[in-house]
Amino acid sequence: MYDINRVRKDFPILSKVIYDKYPLVYLDNAATTQKPRCVVDAMTDEYFNVNANVHRGVHFLSQQATDLHESSRETVRRFINAGKTSEIIFTRGTTESINLVATCFADAFMKAGDEVIVSEMEHHSNIVSWQIAAQRTGIVLRVIPISDDGVLDMEGYKSLFNERTRIVSCTHVSNVLGTINPVREIIRIAHEHGVPTLIDGAQSTPHFAVDVRDMDCDFYAFSGHKIYGPTGVGVLYGKERWLEKMPPYMGGGDMIKTVSFNGTTFNDLPYKFEAGTPDYIATTGLAKALDYVSSIGIDNIYRYEQELTQYAISQMLEIDEMVIFGPRTNHDAVISFQVGNIHHLDMGTLLDRLGIAVRTGHHCAEPLMRRLGIEGTCRASFALYNTTDDVDALVNGIQRIRKMF
Ligand code: PMP
Repeated sequence: MYDINRVRKDFPILSKVIYDKYPLVYLDNAATTQKPRCVVDAMTDEYFNVNANVHRGVHFLSQQATDLHESSRETVRRFINAGKTSEIIFTRGTTESINLVATCFADAFMKAGDEVIVSEMEHHSNIVSWQIAAQRTGIVLRVIPISDDGVLDMEGYKSLFNERTRIVSCTHVSNVLGTINPVREIIRIAHEHGVPTLIDGAQSTPHFAVDVRDMDCDFYAFSGHKIYGPTGVGVLYGKERWLEKMPPYMGGGDMIKTVSFNGTTFNDLPYKFEAGTPDYIATTGLAKALDYVSSIGIDNIYRYEQELTQYAISQMLEIDEMVIFGPRTNHDAVISFQVGNIHHLDMGTLLDRLGIAVRTGHHCAEPLMRRLGIEGTCRASFALYNTTDDVDALVNGIQRIRKMF
């Protein structure tokens, strides 16, 4: 599909040796991905050769920096197949994108007693942001239940709609269970009720092709750092007709047309939602990361990671007392597991001693943990550079730790 050895050479950190002994086996990609050299080089180059504030100067460097920043917006637009660059808002990440919608959509379109539908498998960012809006405005959260194997209950979903439903905010892929949700169906049902949708794409964009127009979502959020880009930058896609009616999120430079003490007029989209100096170096890095992904081919990445995930699941299930959470089909490159009564923190700490990086805990999804009746899990998550050797190291590591207990 692609030359994995060549790809791995693009990521300098992968050749690191942990505790002076073990080659790094990095399986914490759902938390953040490693960066290819081209991303860091592009950002260094901009700092050394272009750096100037964007949108503000007539001078050469400022214009060059502005061109780079705006061409990054076009790269993002193309990557998710949005219709217009005015619908691409740069944020600090998925969390900020969701908070922006929860705040500004609630202010524009919701009043006390109106309802937002979220699901039981949401990341805290898609729960707490709506709870904060609820404290301010009196809106109410309704929750789509899930089955024991971590699949959304679609009948339960349909039954939540009523005349007070104003928006559905749901994750595309669970960061804990790896469940790939049927977002097209979720969006279609919401639209039948005249209700718009926000899809949390933090765990989808790095793994498979996302087409916001084909999906017909009204908002889509994702983070740069989970798709081989830098930290501190993310995206909110929003349909123009919603964004235009929403008030700004923050006030400051760049988001205004004119300011006086008698009143202020706001800038056009997307700038109305981008107050202050944007992280224009990070947007360059993000665009480079998306180009990198496109050069390998997102469909190739999907096929490769699916094979790797299936291989991992089959190998891990050979281990006695192994429990893997989440569904067996429509399962993305995230595996949450528990072995017997070995505490997830012990498992994670001991795997680390073997150079294997996994995540442990509640994964910012405490309501989901409660639903599953557990405190936390160990989570291995894959990226385009992981190999069957990484999986074998994980499986051998778990076997070794099992014997110790
Ligand atoms: N939603 C999901 C499904 C996630 O996995 C994450 C990150 N773990 C977030 C939202 C928040 O992303 P960020 O921290 O990059 O804002």
